[in-house]
Amino acid sequence: MVRMLQWAAVLCIALGVASCGKSGVDAKRIEAAAAGEWLTYGRTYDEQRFSPLDQVNKDTVSRLGVSWSADFDTDRGQEATPLVADGVLYTTTTWSKVFAFDAKTGKQLWTYDPQVPGEKGFDACCDVVNRGVALWKGKVYVGALDGRLIALDAKTGKVVWSVQTTDPKQPYTITAAPRAVKGKILIGNGGAEYPVRGYLSAYDAETGKLDWRFHMTPNPTGAPDGAASDKAMKDFAYKTWNDGAWKQGGGGATPWDAVTYDVKSDLIFVGTGNAGPWNGKIRTGGKGDNLFAASIVALRPDTGEYVWHYQTTPRDDWDFDAVQHLMVADLPIGGKTQRVVMQANKNGFFYVLDAVSGKLVSADKFVPVDWATGVDLKTGRPVEAPGARYEDGTVQTQTPGALGGHNWQPMAFNPKEGLVFIPAQTIYGSYTDPKEFSFIPGAWNLGLGRGADGPKVKRPAAMGELIAWDPVAKKARWKAAFAEPWRSGVLATAGGLVFHAAGHEFIAFDAATGKALWRYNAGAGAIAAASTYAIDDEQYVALMVGFGGAGGMGGEEPRRKGRLLVFKLDGKMVPKPFPVPVVLPPLDLASATPAKGDLTKGEALSAQFCRTCHNDGGYLPVLTRSPVILDPVGFKAIVLDGARKPHGMAPFRRFFNEASAEDLRAYLLAEAAKAPPVVKAAMTHGR
Ligand code: CA
Repeated sequence: MVRMLQWAAVLCIALGVASCGKSGVDAKRIEAAAAGEWLTYGRTYDEQRFSPLDQVNKDTVSRLGVSWSADFDTDRGQEATPLVADGVLYTTTTWSKVFAFDAKTGKQLWTYDPQVPGEKGFDACCDVVNRGVALWKGKVYVGALDGRLIALDAKTGKVVWSVQTTDPKQPYTITAAPRAVKGKILIGNGGAEYPVRGYLSAYDAETGKLDWRFHMTPNPTGAPDGAASDKAMKDFAYKTWNDGAWKQGGGGATPWDAVTYDVKSDLIFVGTGNAGPWNGKIRTGGKGDNLFAASIVALRPDTGEYVWHYQTTPRDDWDFDAVQHLMVADLPIGGKTQRVVMQANKNGFFYVLDAVSGKLVSADKFVPVDWATGVDLKTGRPVEAPGARYEDGTVQTQTPGALGGHNWQPMAFNPKEGLVFIPAQTIYGSYTDPKEFSFIPGAWNLGLGRGADGPKVKRPAAMGELIAWDPVAKKARWKAAFAEPWRSGVLATAGGLVFHAAGHEFIAFDAATGKALWRYNAGAGAIAAASTYAIDDEQYVALMVGFGGAGGMGGEEPRRKGRLLVFKLDGKMVPKPFPVPVVLPPLDLASATPAKGDLTKGEALSAQFCRTCHNDGGYLPVLTRSPVILDPVGFKAIVLDGARKPHGMAPFRRFFNEASAEDLRAYLLAEAAKAPPVVKAAMTHGR
């Protein structure tokens, strides 16, 4: 296959085909998908993440070693898939920074930092991550955390144009890789936990002018937006909502990850986020299906016109975003070849839909599922288990929970084996209806009672599996089990290999059997998916390594800074050891200025504003072990006035006052006194 690539290059030169030349990634190149390149997030438009390269295979993989590596300045989540075109590797790190490397030597060619304001970190539900770039005709496109879509010159990294795709005053974020389709750059947004009103936009790749926009929830006033979504909203979507708190936030349904273009049906498929607030009783008085939240929506790429939708979780009550990887393939179903869209949904069901009509082909449990007994193939609706909607005030503990049976981590497909490899997880979650609810603009507004995350709620242990799923037989052919629930995305190759990372180990599995054939200790966890490419007759495998984003890495300690590892056969490089972390002594509570605050009020503030990010296994420091709680002056400077804005800690004076800050500090000191002293490695944060 590497040889084929060389012939392709010779052909390009001989024919003088412009699209083969430098800086000419276009539709033909993405469709034809030269074996040695990785031109869009899922490699090609169908997003199968399957590479035809086979130099690294079952026989040779034991010789795989590091060829080159690059270190980054941050120890926060690394989620990007590296893209490779014309010998250049493009990747992103936290805070939406872009890097270009010589893909053969690892020499850094340029870097671009969009200088996202630090306080924007508070608007990112799930860390300040970024999943990568799009390439189109000499430009590199990145969606910045603060809602900008930025076009860079692929050769220099200089800004060509930049547009604000969101209202910067609202808690919108972008973490997804943009997609380049038919001269347009497609970009969605995140923020359904706050919530915001989700939409997908298409911008002209050359000029940055907005071509069309499709809103995923109706305008709460019922008025048209002058957008591509207006007709669908008027015809049927608006009727699926009712009065409730969604009108204050916009209903969520943010398309924050999957956007897949199918060349054959000329449709784009978009996955939408949870309905917001999560609790449907608060959101719409428990009424309606709430379109297009938790749905897969098909649109025409030229106009944004609605074609079909399939709602995976009608009237979502559980944060069951449907944004996970949407993969297109031809499958032999019922004796003929069918073009399908596949998704391993957060809600625990693996969906196969007809790509042209959106009709449900099958929906089967790929992990333990107890919120629903199955999906009715006639209606396409889940058959819910009694009590799943926690409307009676009790705590509903179930699997999957809000982290899902599968999250954003990309899957991969092996067409020869007919298998989809799912990085699956079993993580229980709990939900309860609150006694009262008031909407707080700009803050998390889930509409859950505090009992749902309290210490009294006991959940079964979390675990993870890499599942080789046969979408035709509708069952797993093999599984590999892991202690780590939250792991990396997946890469599949014609070498018969499946690459996947768990904890510190990067592993190559036999695609047919699930046998682990090669293991490499990266010295740090990985959650991103690997990509692969070839240059000068050599195949490379690239993986971003780094701490775990929303799911954390099970309290991995000490945390390591981000690193890009690039492997090839007989690679002999030994990456330098990670820097020794700065170790913090146990908290000296005797030196604390006593707090005079109210513990009950402090606990409520912690639950509302702090605990989601600052917790064991989470991605920000555990506050009950942080010296900042010892001193009221320094504490208020950070919490109320934003002394740590550059690191993502927004000022909270808009949410509470001096007395509340002292209530919070009192609660944190009381909790710290209950916990044993712990020596901790300091976070580096990094910008
Ligand atoms: Ca969500």
